[in-house]
Amino acid sequence: MEENILLKQLLRERKLKATSTRLEVLSVISGYNKAIPFSEIQNALHDFDRVTLYRTINSLMKSGIIHKASVGEKETFYAVCSSKCSWDSHNHKHIHFKCSNCKAVTCVQADSAINFAIPGHTINNFEIEATGICVACN
Ligand SMILES: [Zn+2]
Ligand SMILES: [Zn+2]
Ligand SMILES: [Zn+2]
Repeated sequence: MEENILLKQLLRERKLKATSTRLEVLSVISGYNKAIPFSEIQNALHDFDRVTLYRTINSLMKSGIIHKASVGEKETFYAVCSSKCSWDSHNHKHIHFKCSNCKAVTCVQADSAINFAIPGHTINNFEIEATGICVACN
């Protein structure tokens, strides 16, 4: 209940109507703790058809609520965005880490801010993928 209020607020902040479909999909993704593979979303919401799921996921992605977090996988992973993302742009400067042991994908922050410049360009968003052994498996 509490959680639903927060999710509703998040949807409204990003200018999306808080439909029950969006709330259900978002609650599955945000309740997963790590990046969630598409098949897990499907498992959790098996009464949803694929098209509805894809459409809902796409609207959440466009609105800066979730993002793709795949690391060299056939399966697509999704993760909840930070408050830095908005309805018209994503603003990510974190790493997508894939554990080669448990296969979990997580969004992680580096020890120090990752910063680089490309002359003449403005960087709003970049993606870094890393593989290795996660905290839980170490
Ligand atoms: Zn984002
Ligand atoms: Zn692991
Ligand atoms: Zn991420």
